[in-house]
Amino acid sequence: MRTIGRGATQQSSAPYNRRVVLDFIRQQGAASRKDITDMVSLSPQTVANITNDLESIGLIVSRRQKQDKSRGQPPIAFELNPEGGHAIGVSLEPGRVSAARVNLVGDVLERTEVEVDTSQRQSLLAAMLAQVMQLRKGARERLWGVGVALPGPLGKTDISFVGPTAMEGWADLSLLDELREAARLPLFYSVDSVAGALGETLFGVAKSLDNFFYLHLGLGLGGALVTQRSAYRGANGNATEIGHVPVVPGGLACYCGNSGCLERYVSLHALAEALGLRDVQLRSPALLARLEDPHDEAINAWCRQAGERLRDAICMIENMLDPRAIVIGGGAPKALVERLLAAAQPLRRSVRGGVADPEQRLLLSERQGDSSILGAAVLPIYEMLSPRLETVQQDRRPDADVAELLGHRSGGRWGA
Ligand SMILES: [Zn+2]
Repeated sequence: MRTIGRGATQQSSAPYNRRVVLDFIRQQGAASRKDITDMVSLSPQTVANITNDLESIGLIVSRRQKQDKSRGQPPIAFELNPEGGHAIGVSLEPGRVSAARVNLVGDVLERTEVEVDTSQRQSLLAAMLAQVMQLRKGARERLWGVGVALPGPLGKTDISFVGPTAMEGWADLSLLDELREAARLPLFYSVDSVAGALGETLFGVAKSLDNFFYLHLGLGLGGALVTQRSAYRGANGNATEIGHVPVVPGGLACYCGNSGCLERYVSLHALAEALGLRDVQLRSPALLARLEDPHDEAINAWCRQAGERLRDAICMIENMLDPRAIVIGGGAPKALVERLLAAAQPLRRSVRGGVADPEQRLLLSERQGDSSILGAAVLPIYEMLSPRLETVQQDRRPDADVAELLGHRSGGRWGA
């Protein structure tokens, strides 16, 4: 099930081999030279050279493993150096900008959040920049860059719209260029569902899955299909926009111009609408308390109907894509997701039924609430830590030594 890179033997593959070794160490948590040599098909000498290189630039640290008295000297194990660098993630949703500084093992070190009119370019830019500048102050380590996650679809499509779950005025993304210039940091961006999925791949429940579908349950509903650690993008980077698949004939009118879209039934905005709340009230302590109360009839009723739609969606995703698992992440509170998933049981019959471990068909992100922001922060470090990559936006990195060692080519992909 696990995806382990294999070393390559050509001379030109040295940077690739370094990333394969780095990736193996990350997946294992800790690995000795022998573990690495056994698993990645490289010679002991090559592995020794690579671990020396990675240690010298601070991406890994070595520790003596626990003493086993019956044997001699215990081997040295390598681990990812959490302080090998930080990255800043910025998560955008209508009306709110949240950001965090994250280290190389996915710990959120500092976070900020501000409510802002996201349809006003200048105030949004100012809000993003202020948070980036504040978070970078605390970064004593190397800063890999800024990742921005925002709701899809990106670009001008037939269903790009102005509505409560979409970002107004984001068709051209030029605001991100302005942010990069003002912050003077490498900048990467992605649709929030893809960012969240990559976050789960590096640091979350999908760490050992070779493929999975990620459902991003936030104000809206998005999805991403990850295979071999790359997100399937489609022709224009808007693949798997599952929120706008029509599921109810003649159903609720959707902001995209169609009706009966899944997002109109399964999303935080749909919940707010059903409860007569404004979207900003979704994070109020009063609502969080209601979500914990099993006797709240309005919430129960919403979960029952949303769970019904979700059950259909799960069946559709499984039959279409046969994913190893469906991972549920996004900004929705954990209590709500748990109730929704309970309401979606029993799952329909599908190509995963009878094959997959029932416990593994649906996995709940352990970073619920944080998964957007973590996904955004993963964007600047994803390529370095994972040998097969989703190229989001390439940028020259300031650290020439690392770039050289890991094979970064300006404007291209990481060497492979
Ligand atoms: Zn729609």
